Amino acid sequence: MDVKERVEGKGEGCKMEVKLIEKSGNEMRFLVTNLSVSLANALRRAILTLVNVAAIEDVTIYKNTSSMYDEVLALRLGLIPLKTVPTDKKSSKKIRFLLKEVGPKIVHASDMKVEDPDFAPVYDKTIIMELKRGEEIDLEAEAAYGNGLDHAKFVPAHVFYHFYPIIDIKDSDVKNAKEIAKKCPVNILEAEGGKLSVKKGSIDKCILCKACEDFAGKDVIEISSDPKKIIFEIESWGQLSVKDIIDEAVSGLNSELDMIEEKVL
Ligand code: SF4
Repeated sequence: MDVKERVEGKGEGCKMEVKLIEKSGNEMRFLVTNLSVSLANALRRAILTLVNVAAIEDVTIYKNTSSMYDEVLALRLGLIPLKTVPTDKKSSKKIRFLLKEVGPKIVHASDMKVEDPDFAPVYDKTIIMELKRGEEIDLEAEAAYGNGLDHAKFVPAHVFYHFYPIIDIKDSDVKNAKEIAKKCPVNILEAEGGKLSVKKGSIDKCILCKACEDFAGKDVIEISSDPKKIIFEIESWGQLSVKDIIDEAVSGLNSELDMIEEKVL
């Protein structure tokens, strides 16, 4: 059984279950039951390091009379998320960008002329710099594929996981139920009719901060977690869809394991 089968909960005798909790835009949350923490972490690290996305790598500045140093400008350009055509191998494709502007102007990512629209900036309104009256910028940039092992600018998403929360309300009839509910930063506690409870269907949104427990005491509400249930949260920076990110991370992990198997067996 390969990593993909384990992550997808297939395979003989595998009791793993995967349930999609939420998927909207660039974000996805899913619950995996009976997944080992080491495998969960392997998937997280594969997303951070084995997924290839495009980002600006080389910048040639012909003119910069703005107050922003060339180095800072080049760094900002590198951090602009670019739409990326998914590839499970690092591609040698280079994409050229041109930027030539005169102030007064706020220069946005959409002002860059890109030779291949498949690699245009994800967010047009990303601000690159402000040019005062008469200030000029004239540069050429080249984007290339890379992954998180090369540089953090190639990391495709914010990804983390946590155990499934257990909220044990021992005494729902507390006098200060409203105050306790107000302590919850994600607003999942309620105090209807003076009784403390968790809003229906919202327990998986608990971030295990224990603010309620610290305020009310363990004799009223106790927070713990179930290590057999892991909630994954993935937010793409926009270069790739979450589905493409997971696909590429799992296939990257599989090829690394195949390589180990090939060399040692
Ligand atoms: S642990 Fe934090 S997030 Fe969870 S219910 Fe308590 S206050 Fe809310």
